[in-house]
Amino acid sequence: MPGDPAVFIDRDGTLTEEVGYVNHPRRLRLLPGSAEALRRLNRSGLKAVMVTNQSGVARGYFSEEVLHAVNEALVSQLKAEGAYLDGLYVCLHHPTVGDPPYRAACDCRKPAPGLLTRAAGDLGLDLSRSWMVGDKISDILAGRRAGVGSILVLTGYGLGESEYRRSRWPTPPDHVAEDLLESVEWILARRAR
Ligand SMILES: [Mg+2]
Ligand SMILES: [Zn+2]
Repeated sequence: MPGDPAVFIDRDGTLTEEVGYVNHPRRLRLLPGSAEALRRLNRSGLKAVMVTNQSGVARGYFSEEVLHAVNEALVSQLKAEGAYLDGLYVCLHHPTVGDPPYRAACDCRKPAPGLLTRAAGDLGLDLSRSWMVGDKISDILAGRRAGVGSILVLTGYGLGESEYRRSRWPTPPDHVAEDLLESVEWILARRAR
């Protein structure tokens, strides 16, 4: 039985403001339109799954407890705006920095596809009808490797990626959108055709 389609969403620079390492819940800010984007997904039947690299744990900049507190703050801010995530998946690793178990050549640090494939197994998702939205080309690559479509947003690092690094992109996204809300509108419009 085919599973549900999903939109995998990067956190920093896509769902929330890119402010560097988020080492306290109060540093977390939803980007304008993010809650509305999730409300539309929540109503549409597409699952909304956050996939984020948080190597700050491996680097010793913040603990796993702080990471969970930050993500709980995100969930409660979304809830206050009538929106939710169907899953939150985090890579805590870095291949060369810190101590084991966080220093690891893992399969989940984007551009590896492990967060997406793990979520697909857990939640019963149909990757062939799913999308990845992110502000870095590593997000786009992770999407490609998981077999989903990909959208680059111009929030976070996206504008710089798009204006200055386009000639060096190993693979282009399927679409470039202003932000998460415009990405979701584009996905839902394509789906309706
Ligand atoms: Mg990002
Ligand atoms: Zn990892």
